[in-house]
Amino acid sequence: MEPPWGTLVKNLIIAIDGPSGAGKGTLARTLAERLGYRHVDTGAMYRAVAWKAAHEGVPLDDDHAVATVAARAKLDQQDGRITIDGHDVTRAIRTPEIDKAAAAVAKLPHVRSVLVDRQRELGADGGVVMEGRDIGTVVFPGADVKIYLDAAAEERARRRASDQAHTGGQQASLANVQRDLVARDATDSTRAVAPLSVATDAVYVDTTSMPIEAVVDHAMRLVHKKLQSS
Ligand code: C5P
Repeated sequence: MEPPWGTLVKNLIIAIDGPSGAGKGTLARTLAERLGYRHVDTGAMYRAVAWKAAHEGVPLDDDHAVATVAARAKLDQQDGRITIDGHDVTRAIRTPEIDKAAAAVAKLPHVRSVLVDRQRELGADGGVVMEGRDIGTVVFPGADVKIYLDAAAEERARRRASDQAHTGGQQASLANVQRDLVARDATDSTRAVAPLSVATDAVYVDTTSMPIEAVVDHAMRLVHKKLQSS
């Protein structure tokens, strides 16, 4: 059913940040579907660039070389699929190796600068739900709605371990998943450039014991409130 306010505003920028396994992907996808907005998964952009750099034998700590890969690459995201230079890497980027590689290239300032420019272009006209680590703090500090999703590490690891898209059907031990996830949180939160942090004006939502429908309802209420006040 089309919400009564659905025709009022079509061009909000909605920023969803938080650590892995907090539920950003599901929330962002669902909100984008409900609002008829574009969904941009910025983590997938870092992952795809890391995948391409690794395949070209580029050292993942060489900022200029990886930034050149990022600047030259043609990245495309549509209907939940991501391609880089025509290669569909949707599945290939969801591996423990690329988890680490993406977090490594995401530390590099020139790489971030190239990808942040692209993210700003993608969201420039609004009508976008963008998920990542720094959307509300760096990419769109003026975003209309900012949500920071969090959850206890045990729960995030449990979700990650049961996510077929991520495990490729292989059974990963929960303890290993949690160890890797906590290590990646630490890398993302302590890096010098655009570390994972809660924007001062973001709405913080702890999803540890919330079903996804409740998270979506909460977010839709925030969007509704924004639409009524604008
Ligand atoms: O969200 P996802 O787990 O797919 O992101 C992969 C990695 O990309 C993160 O661990 C983080 O290092 C990086 N990232 C980032 N900034 C974003 C999105 C992702 O640094 N906006």
